[in-house]
Amino acid sequence: MAVDQLIVRYGEISLKGHNRSDFEKILAHNVQRALRAFEGVRVERIGGRISVHLAGNPAEPVTREVCRVFGVVSVSPVERTELSVEALTAAALAAARQAVLSSEQVATTFKVDVRRANKRFPIPSPELAALLGGRILEEIESLRVDVHHPHLTVYVEVRDEGGFVYASKYAGLGGLPVGSSGRVGLLLSGGIDSPVAGWLAMKRGVELEAIHFHSFPFTSERALQKVEDLAQVLANWGGRVRLHVVHFTEVQTEIRKHCPDELSITVMRRMMLRIAERLATQWRLKALVTGESLGQVASQTLDSMKTINAVTNLPILRPLVTEDKVDIMRRAREIGTYDISILPYEDCCTIFVPKSPRTKPKIDEAERAETSLDVEKLVEDAVAQTEQKMFKAQVQRTL
Ligand code: ATP
Ligand code: MG
Repeated sequence: MAVDQLIVRYGEISLKGHNRSDFEKILAHNVQRALRAFEGVRVERIGGRISVHLAGNPAEPVTREVCRVFGVVSVSPVERTELSVEALTAAALAAARQAVLSSEQVATTFKVDVRRANKRFPIPSPELAALLGGRILEEIESLRVDVHHPHLTVYVEVRDEGGFVYASKYAGLGGLPVGSSGRVGLLLSGGIDSPVAGWLAMKRGVELEAIHFHSFPFTSERALQKVEDLAQVLANWGGRVRLHVVHFTEVQTEIRKHCPDELSITVMRRMMLRIAERLATQWRLKALVTGESLGQVASQTLDSMKTINAVTNLPILRPLVTEDKVDIMRRAREIGTYDISILPYEDCCTIFVPKSPRTKPKIDEAERAETSLDVEKLVEDAVAQTEQKMFKAQVQRTL
């Protein structure tokens, strides 16, 4: 099958009016950006879907790349033909063969779906469907007709520009295009959870700015490298991710010196949120995302969350709040962050782990524990010393 174009479908039918057109523009832009390694590829918006002109590039790697773009529901490689029965038949046969090859069922059922927008083409849709269906039945033995519940459908569109024929459909990730929901700050540790949380937030259309708290020399350069590698993987999915590295050593040292051991994690988290909130104002981030999952550790009980949250008015998104660890780990493997996350370098939270952290810290207790800290100055200094680094999607090297 001589594929020269992809049809890209998207969902979220609830989107209307302005929103819909913004959504389409952003999605088309993101698809074009994801395909920049493929010379000459052109992305076009037409009537409720996106069309990718391959310009001689092979369909398979381009399809794979498009399926990874958030917001894409499915992709079909399409053959364009001239408007003659012979050409349409050849294309329909080729498309059906290809679909049978990639189908899991050995014997399978099909139908031909014809749409004739170009009424100058002399054969009406039902007759053309019967004619093409008959030819497919003759040529491909394993196929039977089922017009109600076919395993595969050969689509034939007869348009002014020519015939469009396709039968294969590859599933995309769904979601919303990155950039359609605004920018948020992801609290990115080197662990398994927060990169997955960031990925899920991106899938709902947010652009990520990662914020990492680094406590050099308590935590090593390699621990930071790990976080940079995670930011790179997230950028490969979402186009780009800016990483803010907060120097957190001073804050941690002060907490250790002045705060009761069993409340140190609570206070540390509150300091993280205060600093993140300040960065959010500076960089115009609308919310913060964390990898917290209910009950996973002492600082992730509802009581803890309440006390930690009390320092900020920003919405805190917790995409993993109801997820089990095994499911989070599976997702981490799928998106390519797991192997980086399990590297053994220490995190700033693991170095000062108290013997028995409070699981139900109260707000007034946390406030009392903070009285001997110069909170405002610590926050200000940490924000002033924060460094930024941009990660952009890497062009695939395997083409
Ligand atoms: P993760 O696997 O994401 O590290 P975790 O199960 O280890 O999560 P915690 O260590 O309690 O859980 O951290 C909870 C959340 O706090 C993390 O998911 C992350 O969003 C944020 N966080 C923790 N440590 C850091 C850090 N050093 N820098 C930025 N954010 C952090
Ligand atoms: Mg962690």
